Amino acid sequence: MSNIIKVDLKDNGYEVIIEKGGLNNLYKFIDVDRDVFIITDKNVEKLYLETVKSQFITSNSFVISPGEASKSFIDLIAIINYMQSVNIKRNTLLIGLGGGVVGDIAGLVAALYLRGLDYIAIPTTTLAQTDSSVGGKVAINLNCVKNVVGTFYQPKKVIVDINTLSTLANLQYNDGIVEAVKIGLLLDADLFNLILKKDIKENISEIIEKSIIAKAKIVEKDEKDQGVRNLLNFGHTLGHALESLHKFSHGQSVLLGMIYTTNNLKIKKDLIDIAKKLDLIYEIDMSDDLYDLMTFDKKIDKSHILLAHVEEIGKGFLKKHPITYLWEIINVK
Ligand code: NAD
Repeated sequence: MSNIIKVDLKDNGYEVIIEKGGLNNLYKFIDVDRDVFIITDKNVEKLYLETVKSQFITSNSFVISPGEASKSFIDLIAIINYMQSVNIKRNTLLIGLGGGVVGDIAGLVAALYLRGLDYIAIPTTTLAQTDSSVGGKVAINLNCVKNVVGTFYQPKKVIVDINTLSTLANLQYNDGIVEAVKIGLLLDADLFNLILKKDIKENISEIIEKSIIAKAKIVEKDEKDQGVRNLLNFGHTLGHALESLHKFSHGQSVLLGMIYTTNNLKIKKDLIDIAKKLDLIYEIDMSDDLYDLMTFDKKIDKSHILLAHVEEIGKGFLKKHPITYLWEIINVK
């Protein structure tokens, strides 16, 4: 049985379908007679590409290397060159099959190639299922700075099959839970407490569903990140800097970003407890280099930065600070 969450946008609304085993039954959600082009990475290729390909009459695919380094111009050009060489047409459906890295670059390709192909996301990591596949933010990195080249491009559909998480390494599974922690902390106290207090794997369906519902509501209010959607950047100013400097994974970086950005001691303690539960690092030595990287943040205007804060679980808010406030984040333990 599937569970459907609507992302209700003025022009680009779509459904997120959560169905165990959905990957083997794509005919329920996609016209299988349609030409499809699938972008995935090498790990996911081995596990799931054939399953997806075999369900379509005509399909083609491109496989990137796993990992953040693939969110690059080099990969973007390689994919688009290949698509042109095999004459991918505008009515082809593009599918992004994989984690957040695949989703970010596949969505960008969908937005750019021939001025836009229909795009369907099939997320296969906890991070992509709880967060990144919904909302239409697509991007690649440039010169060690995250997500500099990108746009908003909503998928036509998102298909979440929780069974795909069974092949995910523990480290990656836990890492991806961090974005759900963030969504709960800012928007849904029940979700936060579920992750803090209950067994995560036993409750993963509910965690994914609650995360998507909360994220969809925010995206509906502010599709282009002009206002309230900025809440979801909580911990990301420091997080992205840590990701660039230390090459930590995205979830690990965001968790540290949240721990060091929060001023509320009870919330800091809860986040540290979650870090321990997820086997993730909860303290690091800060360095001055982080400050410069943090100033590349997209939420900075000339002299101020808009940051998310939370004093009461489930009730995040935004506040403007002078840029120099960033020193307080990296100096406070
Ligand atoms: P990832 O895409 O690199 O996936 C992590 C690893 O898991 C990779 O090695 C991948 O090959 C492997 N993998 C994927 N699915 C698997 C499966 N089912 N079984 C076994 N292995 C599998 O990392 P991620 O954590 O999913 O995503 C991180 C990226 O997401 C970052 O680049 C981050 O910036 C981006 N992100 C985007 C948004 C957004 O709104 N667009 C939000 C949050 C994060």
